[in-house]
Amino acid sequence: MASKDGFTWTPSGGKRAGLPCIGVISPSTHFVQPEDDPFDTIVIGTGYAGLVASRDLTTQGKKTLVIEARDRLGGRTWSSSIDGFNYEMGGTWIHWHMPHIYREVSFYGLHNDWLVTQIPGGKEDYCTLTTDNDQRNMSHDDEADIVGRAFEVFANVDGDSLRHTWKYAFGTGQSPELMAKWDRLSCQERLDQLQAQDQLTPDETSVLTAFLVQAGGNDLDRLGLLDALRWWVLGSHSRTGLNDIALHTRLGSGHSELHRRIFHHALSTGNLSYTFDTPVTRIEQKDGLVTVTARDGHTWKAKAVVLTIPLNVLSSIEFSPPLSKNKQDAARQGSMNFTNKVHIDMQGPDWVSWSSLASPGKGTVAAFGDRLTPDNNTHLVAFGPDPSSSTGTTLEDMEVVRDSFVHLLPENKRSGVQINKIVSHDWNRDEFSKGAWCFLPPKFTTKYLTALQQPHGNVLFASGDWSDGWRGWIDGAVQIGMQAAQRVMELQRKPSGDKKVVNGSNIYL
Ligand SMILES: Cc1cc2nc3c(=O)[nH]c(=O)nc-3n(C[C@H](O)[C@H](O)[C@H](O)COP(=O)(O)OP(=O)(O)OC[C@H]3O[C@@H](n4cnc5c(N)ncnc54)[C@H](O)[C@@H]3O)c2cc1C
Repeated sequence: MASKDGFTWTPSGGKRAGLPCIGVISPSTHFVQPEDDPFDTIVIGTGYAGLVASRDLTTQGKKTLVIEARDRLGGRTWSSSIDGFNYEMGGTWIHWHMPHIYREVSFYGLHNDWLVTQIPGGKEDYCTLTTDNDQRNMSHDDEADIVGRAFEVFANVDGDSLRHTWKYAFGTGQSPELMAKWDRLSCQERLDQLQAQDQLTPDETSVLTAFLVQAGGNDLDRLGLLDALRWWVLGSHSRTGLNDIALHTRLGSGHSELHRRIFHHALSTGNLSYTFDTPVTRIEQKDGLVTVTARDGHTWKAKAVVLTIPLNVLSSIEFSPPLSKNKQDAARQGSMNFTNKVHIDMQGPDWVSWSSLASPGKGTVAAFGDRLTPDNNTHLVAFGPDPSSSTGTTLEDMEVVRDSFVHLLPENKRSGVQINKIVSHDWNRDEFSKGAWCFLPPKFTTKYLTALQQPHGNVLFASGDWSDGWRGWIDGAVQIGMQAAQRVMELQRKPSGDKKVVNGSNIYL
């Protein structure tokens, strides 16, 4: 099965669109009830949020229609197996300290299916730091020390590294005044404060800049400080916590395998209908029913809708009645993360333990070895920011992409390097994502987060882009999908005709 998404490049074959994926669903439609009958729920999107919501609804007896714009499951998380190696095209690293996704992993029997990224013992077992006028290699211990210390200094906005003011990473009870104060700043403004106070060495400034550009996928003046602080808290307020949890372990059989297991579970209930290759263009609410219209003119009705599409594509759907002003403004402003993630297969096993950071980069700011491919070559993953940012590049010209990666390598090793394959997905030019993982701009969270989380009548808003906890990560998507299904169950438990006010919105049952 092949998806239209993604591409490969090889020196002999050039660039080819489309990649194999076990998450492709064929035939693309399946109805377990007459299409004209109202469904209990329509779930829009089959990323983790939509998959978990539809599984939870169907297993509790709700007749559910899933509508997905793509030809496959998974949204911004999917894997492609090429020549016996699983490439994670979007969301990748998960961990048992991410409670919602770990529950899915263990429930579907994948609890022994872990791979560790960047295995030690390879020939080039060090980190290369490239700056404007210098390049040097350091041990991975030194790398962890310098990144960890710089991140802690950066996150120490209250003199106590947020250990008490932002104690519970999944809680929402932090002081609104403090959150608003930190939310006003961009990552660049925070960095400027630290530099004015002479709190960082030049090396620390360089690694911190590269780390933050990689985290947020853009220039630092466009990235909100609050999201960076939240990542620090999610990493248990510790210097290596974020890295250990969020960039370390991935599923051996790939995320698409887990997607299939969730999807087939939902299907086995006999309550699931679905239609893929079906972008939704309009959502209308009238007389207690929601009508969903697809691009090809098809319409379906339901008592409730769970909408899981990303923040950056929210304005592609027309709503009647229209969305609240705050939701519309939030959708207009959107996430700032326009990262390019690129898989590089390099000849030979030497680079599997290597890592790199560059500030400024030339298209990419970080790359690291992941695993060996079955033919004993190195698989590396590289990240670069927004193509329109000061150091970004598009994925159009593969020579440019190749050079941007080679720039990260130690200068004396660049000439001998042979790249066998590049695999990627252009998330920024993808009309159903328009960006990568969610990273919010300054002043966004305090203004819009609550508004985004609220339902719009009988339409529940459930993207990982506005979850609590691991917002912008896989775990956040699972959490908010689970919560949306739970809310539908609660609301539909009431006798028909009831009206209930939830977070200021009328819900008609
Ligand atoms: C390059 C990259 C790397 C990442 N790395 C990590 C990582 O290592 N670890 C981690 O935890 N997270 C990572 N993430 C983030 C993670 O992938 C996302 O947070 C998560 O997948 C979001 O899930 P979701 O269900 O909320 O949204 P999505 O997965 O985006 O699902 C939304 C679905 O809605 C569909 N859709 C959109 N518009 C329409 C429409 N009009 N009609 C019908 N359907 C529509 C989309 O096709 C999609 O299937 C990464 C993301 C990217 C892009």
